[in-house]
Amino acid sequence: MTTTPTSTSFAVTERSERRSPEEIARLLENPGFGSLFTEHMAVIDWDREQGWHDPRVVPYGPIQLDPSAAVFHYAQEIFEGMKAYRHADGSVWTFRPERNAERFNASARRLAMPELPPTMFLDAIKEVVTLDQGWVPPAESGETSLYLRPFMIATEEALGVRPSNRYLFSVICSPAGAYFTGGLKPVSLWVSEQYVRAALGGTGAAKCGGNYASSLASQAEGIENGCDQVVFLDAQEHRYVEELGGMNLFFLYADGRVVTPELTGTILPGVTRSSLLELARERGLQVQERRFTIDEWREGVASGEITEVFACGTAAVITPVGRLAWNGGEVAMPQSHEVTMSLRQELLDIQYGRAEDRHGWMYQL
Ligand code: PMP
Repeated sequence: MTTTPTSTSFAVTERSERRSPEEIARLLENPGFGSLFTEHMAVIDWDREQGWHDPRVVPYGPIQLDPSAAVFHYAQEIFEGMKAYRHADGSVWTFRPERNAERFNASARRLAMPELPPTMFLDAIKEVVTLDQGWVPPAESGETSLYLRPFMIATEEALGVRPSNRYLFSVICSPAGAYFTGGLKPVSLWVSEQYVRAALGGTGAAKCGGNYASSLASQAEGIENGCDQVVFLDAQEHRYVEELGGMNLFFLYADGRVVTPELTGTILPGVTRSSLLELARERGLQVQERRFTIDEWREGVASGEITEVFACGTAAVITPVGRLAWNGGEVAMPQSHEVTMSLRQELLDIQYGRAEDRHGWMYQL
């Protein structure tokens, strides 16, 4: 693999005993999602006096924190989710990482945390993935990848309610299996009427742990009602469709319109969402980012105007939606997924290096 050197100088402490390639290959046969981690992690510290300092790659393991560390009490925590893909020639790439670096800093500003220079964000990823490159699943294993989880936590020992004076940034990596193992499975969605995810002026557009903590009760309600995921409506009028707990939504119309809820500050600006908007535009589809009501959704499906509905995000790329249910009713989505699956394939082909990267979206690690 060829790599360009990073501009941040990381001190590297390797694990004394590395797993053998055979052992890693065995673990990669069935990685699941998010419970298996590679052997190293990148870490950078921040404090008010020194700013970002002490960039290092160390063996993956527990982080020691004081019980009074601010993150445990007031949830100053942000994160990102990305993937490293292996191409057929063995090289390893990630997708539009500068977008994640920008979004990370937007989240940092919202949570009153220090911004991280995007070069440091990218260098940290590059360092740890280069060291643990044996954990990026082989190209021939299908839609497998190495999931990358950059995150930042407030570490100062202090119970005062104020921004922490110390933070830790880290990148950990987790091999991810194909999302659809037993073939394509459309998801069913539960409309959360009791809870909202985000209000105007809140933290909806930030990728902070608190947003996910507050989504879990509604997710549990969805599961109790036989659904896979929850769709959130706006906090004010409870009628505009926002997004799922971890994915953005798209609606395809028979006349070639493609509608996705606009970014009002309460929705996470997905990198997959913005990439699909571009691919759809290039196909000559009429892309609309606008407010979209739950009634338009139900009526559009009933009248046959809406022909496909899908959710998208880094983890699943694109997932067709099969059913929408709410307290008192449900409606089956159209069963055709033709455009959905072809957009999915187009994006995957770019990510896995099977199609020309005409937008310059891929970044070699
Ligand atoms: N919405 C939410 C709430 C998410 O957590 C995610 C996953 N990051 C997305 C949308 C999709 O974003 P992306 O395409 O950048 O993964």
